[in-house]
Amino acid sequence: MNGFVEPTRPDHSALTGAAERAKALRERYSQLESESLLRVMLEMEYKGRIALVSSFGAEAVILLDMVARIDPATPILFIDTGKLFHETLTYRDVVVRQLGLMDVRTLKPTSFDITSHDPDGKIWQRNPNLCCYLRKVLPLERALSGFDAWITGRKRAQGGERTELRNIEAVDGRICFNPLAHWSEEDVENAFQFLNLPRHPLFNDGYNSIGCAPCTAPSSPDTEARAGRWLGSTKSECGIHQARWSPSRLKNNPHTKFPSSL
Ligand code: SF4
Repeated sequence: MNGFVEPTRPDHSALTGAAERAKALRERYSQLESESLLRVMLEMEYKGRIALVSSFGAEAVILLDMVARIDPATPILFIDTGKLFHETLTYRDVVVRQLGLMDVRTLKPTSFDITSHDPDGKIWQRNPNLCCYLRKVLPLERALSGFDAWITGRKRAQGGERTELRNIEAVDGRICFNPLAHWSEEDVENAFQFLNLPRHPLFNDGYNSIGCAPCTAPSSPDTEARAGRWLGSTKSECGIHQARWSPSRLKNNPHTKFPSSL
């Protein structure tokens, strides 16, 4: 795979250091409820060094609302792949206004990566892993280079690779917080009702999880929430949450190049 300008790769000591920090943070804070955990991380442990990564999808507003109540100036990283539903962009603007979010940063793939690897805009049909890599993974990695920690809204109830999710983990040399990891679908529904939060416009059309338009379909309520993502393929994650580097991988082969499997 040639032509990508890769962000700086974490070294072995950064990876092991983050794993040890995550373990210490879990021992100290993992019993905290979602909002308390967020508050500790935003105001104490990672003040000024942490960002929330948000899709502005079907359930994203719950975590955005929590963050806005603690500190509306928290950096929010939103990846605009160029393939999103226009409803998502409209919804983003509504949510930003309603919650008073002050620092939403829209990340995009570079025009070089797109013209080099996806000139017809249809690589999602031929190689969705490569499409996600250049439209999501690389833009996020570049943006995260300014932060020591990040926050996601993933939940174990979403199924698939998320069923074992911890609320504090180490990913590629950074700390990743998942304050809603233990939330059930009922918790999500209750939060929408209780807080009177705005729904994504596509939710009422059966979209229970919302990503890029070509790779998202409505799903029935009796399937997993993410059943409509990459429907008909074995792909279930875009890759932004999956560790690319492990201490053992770098120790055994410090010259390893990624992506080798795209
Ligand atoms: S979800 Fe689909 S369109 Fe979006 S980046 Fe991934 S493969 Fe491309």
